Amino acid sequence: MSKVALVTGGSRGIGRAISVALAGRGYSVAVNYRSRSGAADEVVDCIGASGGSAAAFGADVSRADDVARLFSEVEDKFGRPAILINNAGTTDDSLLLRMEEAAWDRLLETNLKSVYLCSKAVLRGMLRQKWGRIVSIASVAGLTGNPGQTNYAASKAGVIAFSKSLAKEVGSRGVTVNAVAPGFVITDLTSGMPESFLEQVRSTTSLRRIGRPEEIASAVAFLVSDGASYITGQVLVVDGGLAL
Ligand code: NAP
Repeated sequence: MSKVALVTGGSRGIGRAISVALAGRGYSVAVNYRSRSGAADEVVDCIGASGGSAAAFGADVSRADDVARLFSEVEDKFGRPAILINNAGTTDDSLLLRMEEAAWDRLLETNLKSVYLCSKAVLRGMLRQKWGRIVSIASVAGLTGNPGQTNYAASKAGVIAFSKSLAKEVGSRGVTVNAVAPGFVITDLTSGMPESFLEQVRSTTSLRRIGRPEEIASAVAFLVSDGASYITGQVLVVDGGLAL
């Protein structure tokens, strides 16, 4: 079995923590980013400094041609990935009546089409090896909904339904497909929020605090580990009790 893991959007925030966690467990990590090569290089250096193996790969995972090139470059460098973490994602919040069609399309392409493109690209190698792990980062918004996030919540609900369906398609071939649904985690995606909003999140979260990227990464590391060999088609909610 290959020990190669590809983390989309692995250069910042939750993806960065996942890259570091998987490298720490002995995987060669392909750290994908879209445009900020400096952030990706920093993660690669950090992993290398702790004795791990990683390399950075620029590609917009919402584009089919970029994804084809990404997989070919990763294979040339490390071999075929046995683990895919669909983490790249973004937000573009607005009330539905003000949401432009182009913005809707862009968000769905980044958060959902990317999961389709990357999962399809990785699957053939996994089926041949009769082993593979696909974990996609959804969100509690995809379970509960959120005002101002019809686009984001729909994309994340789509990621969950995609994961369950693919789990049924490929389980007999040794490939598991799961989703992790974080609650609120401090990253560049969420750092602009006013303190009053953060306080509201804390007060409605059972654990009374906001999550750390490493706490999402450890759930992902569990789902790709041998300890999770009988888990597929599941959504692991990691939200401190926010959505309870
Ligand atoms: P982040 O800090 O904004 O980082 C996003 C990462 O994704 C960056 O590495 C970025 O690369 C990459 N990326 C974005 N679009 C891409 C594309 N089209 N192709 C390739 N890479 C792309 O985000 P985050 O907060 O860590 O979120 C990571 C995932 O967790 C997302 O799917 C998000 O929806 C989900 N999530 C986050 C939270 C939260 O509270 N933070 C909660 C629930 C779910 P560049 O730097 O090069 O642009």
